[in-house]
Amino acid sequence: MKRKNFLKTLALLPFAAYNMKIQDFPKIVESLPGTEKMPALFVGHGSPMNALEDNAFTKSLKALGKQFKEEGKKPAAILVVSAHWLTRGSYVNIQPKPETIHDFGGFPQELFDAQYPAPGAPEQARETAALSPLIQETEEWGLDHGSWTILMHLFPEADVPVFQLSIDYNRPMEYHFSLAQQLASLREKGVLIIGSGNIVHNLRLSMGKLRAGDTQPYDWALEFDKWVLDKINDRDFNALQAYESAGEAGKLSVPTVDHYVPMLYSLGLAGEKEEIAQTYEEVTYGGISMRTFQIG
Ligand code: ZN
Repeated sequence: MKRKNFLKTLALLPFAAYNMKIQDFPKIVESLPGTEKMPALFVGHGSPMNALEDNAFTKSLKALGKQFKEEGKKPAAILVVSAHWLTRGSYVNIQPKPETIHDFGGFPQELFDAQYPAPGAPEQARETAALSPLIQETEEWGLDHGSWTILMHLFPEADVPVFQLSIDYNRPMEYHFSLAQQLASLREKGVLIIGSGNIVHNLRLSMGKLRAGDTQPYDWALEFDKWVLDKINDRDFNALQAYESAGEAGKLSVPTVDHYVPMLYSLGLAGEKEEIAQTYEEVTYGGISMRTFQIG
């Protein structure tokens, strides 16, 4: 708890506590703003062009960042698990000055010129590595577009240190979910953890629509996006680790697991009764879901 908030809490307690038992005090303190643990996010990042665009999705990210600010939830650091850092083994980036990586082709020069100059978070990155023997430290990465294209809207001032955790691509779904669970204590230390991918992500079948500017979603994409939403609301995270059970819609929506897995890193952080609020919902260009949610 920040000292200022703590003093505010003390000032309020005598009035609030008039008819309360001493064992109720921790509950009161926990419910005051700025004293809870950091929320976690899953963001459907979509096209890198979102970095430069002002659309309904980027507006929702801006609003989310503003809300964090207003609620006094400025993170001490941000940890992003991006669909665009796939490795053999799990790595955290301990770079003090991570570079903005333009890991794409065929976009306007303006996008290649974009920079997100946030500092790295070597201290929190080392703490993360210490949480699990499965995580190794590296300096061989910066911020890929799964990170910076969304952070430009969430935290436009680039004043919060950022680090990334890679996705060990050869591991099963259960590995990712349980690794996320081991990271939960970071939230108590002010680290905002963001999974950045897309629940439905079939670029091959979306390319034609992207080129034609046709935003109409495919039926199977809507079906799978809804299936995932229902499982989140039922808190059936086991089902989400076995997305193949959604049948043909699952197969078409998750042709490769890279954009799906970041969601498991977000859900693995959810407390048993913690609220999961959908902050943006859209299935676009045939087979891309921009669904974004906040835990806690
Ligand atoms: Zn992507």
